[in-house]
Amino acid sequence: MSQTDITIFEKLESEVRSYIRSFPTVFTKAKGYKMWDEKGTEYIDFFSGAGALNYGHNDPMMKAKLVDYILSDGITHSLDMATAPKAEFLTTFNEVILKPRNLDYKIMFPGPTGTNTVESALKLARKVTGRTDIISFTNGFHGMTIGALSVTGNAFKRKGAGIPLQNVVTMPYDSFVNDNLDTLEYLERFLEDGGSGVDIPAAMILETVQGEGGINAASFEWLQRVEQICKRWGILLIVDDVQAGVGRTGTFFSFEKAGIKPDIVCMSKSIGGYGLPLAITLIRPDLDIWEPGEHNGTFRGNNHAFVTATAALSYWEDPSFEKNIEEKSEKIFNFLEGIVAKYPELQGEAKGRGYMVGIETKIDGLASSVAAEAFERGLIMETSGPKDEVFKLFPPLIIDDEGLDKGLKIIEDSVKAVLGAKELVIS
Ligand code: PMP
Repeated sequence: MSQTDITIFEKLESEVRSYIRSFPTVFTKAKGYKMWDEKGTEYIDFFSGAGALNYGHNDPMMKAKLVDYILSDGITHSLDMATAPKAEFLTTFNEVILKPRNLDYKIMFPGPTGTNTVESALKLARKVTGRTDIISFTNGFHGMTIGALSVTGNAFKRKGAGIPLQNVVTMPYDSFVNDNLDTLEYLERFLEDGGSGVDIPAAMILETVQGEGGINAASFEWLQRVEQICKRWGILLIVDDVQAGVGRTGTFFSFEKAGIKPDIVCMSKSIGGYGLPLAITLIRPDLDIWEPGEHNGTFRGNNHAFVTATAALSYWEDPSFEKNIEEKSEKIFNFLEGIVAKYPELQGEAKGRGYMVGIETKIDGLASSVAAEAFERGLIMETSGPKDEVFKLFPPLIIDDEGLDKGLKIIEDSVKAVLGAKELVIS
C-alpha cells in the first residue's frame, strides 16, 4: 500500500492542529493499548484519546455489538427521539452505575462533547438559581465554547475567545498557592463578607483531578468542604467528570471516595465506551426544570454510542475491574516516586490519582522533551499544565502488566536519555 504524504496535513489542514505535531506519523490501526502507524511501527498508548479511550481501542465485545447493530440497519441518528439503544443505556446506567452508588440523577443528553455538557450545566445552574456568576478554580479546564472557556483557567486558551469572558470568579484550587494556605477559608471569606465584591454564585464548577491543568488532585477533605460550603450558601456544585470520570481515578465517578454528591455531573469522553461521541449531564431530580427543547442539539441521539456505552457498563458489573485499577495504580505511582527519587536532576514530583498521574518537573521544557523522546521509543504520552510542566501517564484501564511494564520502561529510558543529553549540553 502506498504511504500517505505527511505534508498533506500541512498543506490542507488548519494551523490549529496540535496532537499531530507531538505525534508526527500516520496512524492506521489500533487494538487495546497498542497503535500502529503505516510504517508498521508499534506504539504503546499512554494517552487514551485524552481520556476518551479508557477501555482501550476497538474493544472486541463493544465492536461485536456495534457491528451487529449496524448490520441490522439499527437507527443511527435520531435527535432525541425514543430508540431502543437509548432506553437500554438509560436503564443500564441507572441499574449498574447510579443505584449501587446510591445516586439519583435525571440523565440529560446535551450535544456529544465535553464542552456541550459543561455548557448545559452552567446554563441550568443559572436558570435554577436565577444568579449569573459561577465560581471556577485556577487551572480548571472545561472546554472551548464561550461558557466553558469562561470557567477555564489557561490564558492561551482564554485569549482565543476574542471577547471578554464574564460572569465568572476564579478561586484558588487545593494547594494552588502553597500547601499551607487554606484556599477554602480564603474562598469562604469572599462569600460571607458583603464587602468582598463577589456575589453569591449560581454554582461552583471543578474537576476532582485537573487533567489539562497539571494533574492536580484535590484532597478528599477539600472536596468535602467545597460541598459543605456550597450547601451552606445555596450554591450548586458541578463536578466536571469529563476526563476524571469513567474509572480514570479508580472509581466510576471521580468523587466517589470523597463521599460527596454533586448537584450536577458532566461526563463525556469515555462514557461512549468505544471512542464514539456521547455526553451526559446528570442532574439532581428537583433541579431538572428545563422546558422541553429549551436546550437542544442535533447530535444528542448517537445510537452507535448508546450501543457501545451500554456494552461498556458491563465492565462495572464485575468488582474485580475496579480492584485491578486500584492495584495497578499503586504500581504506577510507586514507579513515578521511584523515578523522582532516582533522578533528582529531574526536580520532579509525582502527582495525580489512579490512572491519571504524571511527573511535574521544575525544569522548563523537560516534560515535553521526555514525551518527545518517549514517542521516538514507541510510547504515546502527552504533557499537561500551563507550562507543559507535567508528563502525563494516561494508559487505558484495560492495560495488562506486560503493556504497563513496557510503557514504564520506555518512560524511564526516556528520562535517562533526556537528562543525559542535558548534561552534555551543560558541560
Ligand atoms: N472538561 C474537561 C475536564 C476536559 O478535560 C475536557 C477536554 N479535555 C473538556 C471538558 C472538553 O471536552 P471536549 O474537548 O470534548 O469538548
